[in-house]
Amino acid sequence: MLKLYNFLTRQVEEFKPFDKLRANGRFSYEVGLYTCGPTVYDYVHIGNWRTFVFEDILKRVLKFNDYKVKHVMNVTDIDDKIIKRANAEKVEFREITNRYEKAFFEDLEKLNILKADKYPRATDYFTSMIRIIEVLLKKGTAYKGDDGIYFAVDKFKDYGKLSGLEKRQLKKGARVNDDLYDKENWSDFALWKFPSTRSARSGQALKEPSWEAPFGRGRPGWHIECSAMSMAELGETFDPFGKLRVNGEHGRTIDIHTGGVDLLFPHHENEIAQSEGATGKKFVNYWMEGEHLLVDGEKMSKSLNNFYRLDDVEKKGFEPLALRYLFLTAHYRSKLNFTWKSLEAAANALNNLREEISNWEDPGKSGWIGCAGFENNFKEAIGDDLNMPRALAVMWDLVKSDLPTKPKHQSIFIMDRVLGLGLDQIKPAKLPEGAKQMIEEREELRREGKFGESDRLRKELLEMGVAVEDTPQGSKWKVLKINPKIKK
Ligand code: AMP
Ligand code: ZN
Repeated sequence: MLKLYNFLTRQVEEFKPFDKLRANGRFSYEVGLYTCGPTVYDYVHIGNWRTFVFEDILKRVLKFNDYKVKHVMNVTDIDDKIIKRANAEKVEFREITNRYEKAFFEDLEKLNILKADKYPRATDYFTSMIRIIEVLLKKGTAYKGDDGIYFAVDKFKDYGKLSGLEKRQLKKGARVNDDLYDKENWSDFALWKFPSTRSARSGQALKEPSWEAPFGRGRPGWHIECSAMSMAELGETFDPFGKLRVNGEHGRTIDIHTGGVDLLFPHHENEIAQSEGATGKKFVNYWMEGEHLLVDGEKMSKSLNNFYRLDDVEKKGFEPLALRYLFLTAHYRSKLNFTWKSLEAAANALNNLREEISNWEDPGKSGWIGCAGFENNFKEAIGDDLNMPRALAVMWDLVKSDLPTKPKHQSIFIMDRVLGLGLDQIKPAKLPEGAKQMIEEREELRREGKFGESDRLRKELLEMGVAVEDTPQGSKWKVLKINPKIKK
């Protein structure tokens, strides 16, 4: 059984895909998964990557449970921050978004994150956005202000059902045009923004891209982008004019929608308001939000300037998969404090794991019997709201067990379908060229009592990636997988 924590009900629930709710008895269920993607105005930091890795684990766990998954992740390629950056650099906004989108996909691969089925870009979905806004205007849930079209939050009775914030916090008549507004207060928020020509803060002339719409030239607010793209791509419940739907089956609810907890309010709350306000139907069944990566107890973020990029991680000699391993050591609903020390510990754990596996017998063809008990415990752990720390512990129990290495190897491969640590890429341990002679030579030197020279050889071997240990039974060697760049 797969159990997931649903922010909508604030409890762990058995996961039931929408397909099953609709068509009982079908054997292949396709889960619609929408994950809020990056705003490509800058490089993504490792806090963002924590959320994207959590979403990757979620998807892998769904697949592990034999669901087919249709995964859609948007790329926000128009918003306030992008415009600000383009103006600061005096370039066209696409130059900014192309640059950072490219960097995003390069990092994604390094972290072994499975690709989504689709990465819709906001600027390709104006038709859908405009249609939702038109319906909201017609229903009186949206209105035209002097600088844009606004969603009237007091017209949507369920407003606050996701974040749990109370309506009394709404400042009557207050409106926000900024995508990142005060998270404590409710306000009517912009669905569509008319060009302002001047930056509100600096008073500087601002170059703002804008597009035609029946209610006035402008650009979308951030929240409407995700409503439109998710409903268009995952089969929305909404078809008032018979035109909004781009593809997908009619009447389908999105199964799971995710992001980091900072998106709970206002972003996800507003997505619900816009989507359900327009369709009158449930927008998403399960809302899952990943906890933050912290630095010194504070959220890692651009605004606090306390962030690291994957590039910083690599420059320090760590491989991206060590970061992935580190993320697996904490439950996605717990905060994780990032330190270089913890990353080093993760890198070492990953290398020790590889080292062990590299000395195992070949797993043989897939489909062989692995270690069923461990596999069951693993499945139980991941099915318990993605309890990856427990799953890792099960994996280590398996590694350290006295079972034969061939079935162990089989089971590790199965577990790695979720862990995504590239464990199937590990080559069997092999001594580097010349090492065997050096080990023998060293033995000889020791016998002759030439310990200084034998130590020099041991160092040389270590540099080649071979650790030699002297035991009462004689010397033993082990091929190390440790990245030599990591300072110990
Ligand atoms: P953004 O590009 O700012 O919209 O962020 C992309 C994703 O990263 C969103 O799902 C955010 O909630 C998430 N995020 C931002 N900061 C952090 C952090 N420090 N830890 C974990 N996730 C984060
Ligand atoms: Zn979003």
